[in-house]
Amino acid sequence: MAAGLCLHLCPRLRAFAASSRPLFAAHSGALPLRRAGPAMPLAARARRGLSSSTAAAPPAEDDDFATAADLRFEPPLEVVKYPDPILRARNKRINTFDANLRALADEMFDVMYKTDGIGLSAPQVGVNVQLMVFNPAGVKGEGEEIVLVNPVVYKSAKRLLVFEEGCLSFPGIYANVVRPESVKIEAQDVTGAKIKVKLSGLPARVFQHEFDHLLGILFFDRMTMDILETVREQLKNLEKKYEERTGLLSPETVENYKGTKHVFSFSR
Ligand SMILES: [Zn+2]
Repeated sequence: MAAGLCLHLCPRLRAFAASSRPLFAAHSGALPLRRAGPAMPLAARARRGLSSSTAAAPPAEDDDFATAADLRFEPPLEVVKYPDPILRARNKRINTFDANLRALADEMFDVMYKTDGIGLSAPQVGVNVQLMVFNPAGVKGEGEEIVLVNPVVYKSAKRLLVFEEGCLSFPGIYANVVRPESVKIEAQDVTGAKIKVKLSGLPARVFQHEFDHLLGILFFDRMTMDILETVREQLKNLEKKYEERTGLLSPETVENYKGTKHVFSFSR
């Protein structure tokens, strides 16, 4: 069975999740984390990371925060599927930490659990803001519910790991993706409080997948050409379904896609 990220959680991952210690609860401020250098602003990282991509979103400007209209949502939320352009749109930073934001995060957890996911980003439910939720246990009432707002990666491990990922926006598609083993991040929680933590193991994997969504990067952008070949037909099927559903031309196509070269450049 495939070990999906946004999607199904296999027994191996469940065992992994159950053995993980809490990441943020009760001690988020106390985790030792040495800063290796100044955090690179999100916009700068996005520019660097996406410079060679043809399909990625332009970077968010620091003063360009989400308005109340940007944060408006209507339950029940539905998962946006590839190749909807919402997944490539710019995601605005958040500076309003109110009941609406908490409600949005709660709704995202509901969608995530219902679809057997372990992580979900706001653009995947049609809200283009810098917000992600995840729970490596993948079950309501178990594990730890983590809400991250305006996340920034300021250091990532040199050691890379291969891991099979899935994505709620790509139903039925699973493939290997290479990512750094661990990342050091800064973010805010749902109340606006600052969080600084090192993530490794499954949480690091889920975080990086969702963080990419916030930069308009999708998991097949990270696949090697050999791996991409194994899912190209399935991606084309999703494009066809989109065209049938909307009556529009697919905004992007993998037909002649040669891959991109943003290889973890966000984390330098
Ligand atoms: Zn995803």
